[in-house]
Amino acid sequence: MRLCTFLDSGTPRVGRVEGDHVIPLAAPDLVALIRGAGAGETGPPVPLDRVSLTAPLRPVKLLGVVRNYAMHAREMNEPAPEFPNMFSKLVTAVTGPGGPVVRPAATRELDYEGELAVVIGRTATRVDEADAMDHVFGYTVINDVSARDLQRTERQWARAKGCDTFAPMGPWVVTADEIPDPQALRIRTWVNGEARQDGSTADMLHSVARVVAWCSQSFTLEPGDVIATGTPAGVGKGLDPPRFLEPGDLVRIEIDAIGAIEHRVA
Ligand code: MG
Repeated sequence: MRLCTFLDSGTPRVGRVEGDHVIPLAAPDLVALIRGAGAGETGPPVPLDRVSLTAPLRPVKLLGVVRNYAMHAREMNEPAPEFPNMFSKLVTAVTGPGGPVVRPAATRELDYEGELAVVIGRTATRVDEADAMDHVFGYTVINDVSARDLQRTERQWARAKGCDTFAPMGPWVVTADEIPDPQALRIRTWVNGEARQDGSTADMLHSVARVVAWCSQSFTLEPGDVIATGTPAGVGKGLDPPRFLEPGDLVRIEIDAIGAIEHRVA
């Protein structure tokens, strides 16, 4: 199933995407639906091209994994962590799949990170890796937008990763039953049509199951929590010379079996 949130005369509504239509559902938001409320249909299908998609959900917590691909660690000239090294992104950074991503005055080194995002479906406290996938609801696409200069100069990444609009996500959440192996997905990123990232989730250092189990040893994961699982090589900072995002740039991130998000930088 593909579940989205769309604007209906300005009001956010949850919908199930089927083909090129969306069927409105009763749930007030996608987190409520994940918790089991409002799966009933409430209206006729609406053509997707007539609605505006927002982020599929407002995460309860939004976490990221630091350098979860060896080639990305190498391009950043940093070691690859031996365990899932987690950070938080502020949930106010979340924006729709169409952006825009706004470059704040605080940075001149705005960068993209195309990533598979995991949506938690069932509360997870101290779960084993073998059981971790039972707690995953589904997957979506996220750009873990990063300000490299702030990341370099500030020890905590609240600003480097958490500025407004630094987490465009969508276009929808694909439920886990449709993605039996999240470690076999191609992730690609383009900037202004130029291919920048072409990786596979097979190359993650720490799998989705391991990351979920790892987090749950220290804090409870709840329905609606989202984990950005790290980015493959090819970020702007890793190029020689580095090439950062400028206003007007168009970023597209696509993951097989999920879909694509595309947004401009403002
Ligand atoms: Mg990242």
